[in-house]
Amino acid sequence: MNNVRHYIEKIRQGESYFSFERKLYIIAYMLSAIHFVVCVIFALIPIVPLSVINGCLSVFFITIIRNLIKQHNFATVFYISLLEVLVISFFETFCLGLASGFVLYSISMISAIFYFSFVIDKFKRKDIIPLSFSLLCVATYCISYLLMQVMEPVYILEHSYWTHILHLFNTLMTFAILIFFSFLFIWEIQASQGKLASQNEQLHEMAHKDPLTHLMNRRNMDQILRQRMEQLKNTGKRFSLILGDIDDFKKVNDTYGHDAGDYVLVTVSEIITNSVRDGDAVCRWGGEEILILVHEPLNSAANAAERIRKNIAEYPFHYEGQDLKVTMTFGVCESIPGYRVEDLVQQADEHLYTGKKSGKNIVVFQTSANTTI
Ligand code: GH3
Ligand code: MG
Ligand code: MG
Repeated sequence: MNNVRHYIEKIRQGESYFSFERKLYIIAYMLSAIHFVVCVIFALIPIVPLSVINGCLSVFFITIIRNLIKQHNFATVFYISLLEVLVISFFETFCLGLASGFVLYSISMISAIFYFSFVIDKFKRKDIIPLSFSLLCVATYCISYLLMQVMEPVYILEHSYWTHILHLFNTLMTFAILIFFSFLFIWEIQASQGKLASQNEQLHEMAHKDPLTHLMNRRNMDQILRQRMEQLKNTGKRFSLILGDIDDFKKVNDTYGHDAGDYVLVTVSEIITNSVRDGDAVCRWGGEEILILVHEPLNSAANAAERIRKNIAEYPFHYEGQDLKVTMTFGVCESIPGYRVEDLVQQADEHLYTGKKSGKNIVVFQTSANTTI
């Protein structure tokens, strides 16, 4: 039961448990089995020629058709199988009459036609192709019906229960084919919807996140900042920006290699993400510069920056058996109504620059009167 649930979940997520090839094998075995049962029924009646024909067709599906599937000749498999079903449906109706139910197979093929037209890439016109083949099925049914109104079947069965058995079997198989292909169709649609959803998620991630640190990217942050500025204008709700830059990062790259630099960047990003509140936004603003939007006034933001600085300075960075000393300098500023986003970021950058000049590993922010370190 758990396995079934697992596969259904996989299908929902866009993963098809059965490949198209595997599904075709199942269909070929199914058609082969139907011909085999009909072969046995005809042997019992007995109508030897029809029994032999169905026996041969049963073998045909598990040899030639199976081989075509193996060679990925999917369109050919579709054409031959459809033609075979229509011809045999017509021929056996001609031999045994409408009551035998063989004519029903021409109806059952319509769901198969729409399914195959949907899944086979080679069929570019997903509307005209199934419609034309469906009309062929309609024609087969109508011609069989009209023909049997003007002529007697070739074989008249001695016992009427054979007609009932054949009719019931063919009707059940027709329903089974209709239900089977409708199910396959639904699964196929669910699988493509699942695939689209996961591709959308990936695209969204690529458009909004930095691939190395998984932090928000600059473009995304820019949009958030503009929205937050609008909110400030309308509601007066203040916010602050913290701009951080890793100290002597070039040295890390030069001494331990670029991969060690990447490790530091990723770890610093994780420390910062874990040090801020849920609603705050953390973004990779530039190479090793990180910009944080805090929904608090200046003093609280400066405290948050100090907490982050401490967490980074105290973190035991290890890379390939080496201990690394990593620190970060921060510039903090508060939102000012009427300012542009660029002006605010520049102010945080100026404080950051002051911090770098003052010996690094510090938080710099400006109160109304003076710059505080
Ligand atoms: P300062 O303390 O003044 O900030 O000195 P610094 O050496 O950190 O100088 P700067 O900020 O100019 O150095 C930025 C370096 O960051 C240069 C660049 O090679 C490196 N860098 C930028 N992006 C990446 C990255 O994705 N991975 C790695 N490993 N290095 C990067
Ligand atoms: Mg730096
Ligand atoms: Mg820098």
